[in-house]
Amino acid sequence: MKDRVELKTTASKITLANDTWVVHLPRFGEEGTHFHTLGLLTPYFKGLTEGRLMATRCTNPRCPISKGNGEMWLPPRADCPDCHQPMVWKEVRDPKGYIYAFTYVERGGTGLEIECPYYQIDVKMEGVGTIVKSYLLDRKPIKIGDKVRARFRTGAAATNTCLDLSFELA
Ligand SMILES: [Zn+2]
Repeated sequence: MKDRVELKTTASKITLANDTWVVHLPRFGEEGTHFHTLGLLTPYFKGLTEGRLMATRCTNPRCPISKGNGEMWLPPRADCPDCHQPMVWKEVRDPKGYIYAFTYVERGGTGLEIECPYYQIDVKMEGVGTIVKSYLLDRKPIKIGDKVRARFRTGAAATNTCLDLSFELA
């Protein structure tokens, strides 16, 4: 077994619709293509393919929770769940954190594009208010609290899905 996890997937075709990405997922052949719009979250997925981790935060001064100075949310949300106003995009610089929780996946469900076994991890990142769910590239034994840093599938290696974000032990 290799010591790094690999993906069993290829890049999804992307088309543009009003500046937002529409992903074509030919999961069941060309006739079974699923069209999935990334809508207002397009900057997040586009950022991953460029090696940038984009989060959102609430800057509405009338927000009952953020009071205009919200923490960063990952995965991002287009609108604030507390005041329902549009959130603002902000890049997470030098994205790293620690393993908050994990699951060791030996057998995946049908269609899983991550080669098993792998660790599905929840990451608490510096400067981010939420917990990020992702997968770990390393296959060696881990424990809660281990430090990790973000990795990206960019350019020709990008899948144009959430799989473009992963983590490795720091
Ligand atoms: Zn708000």
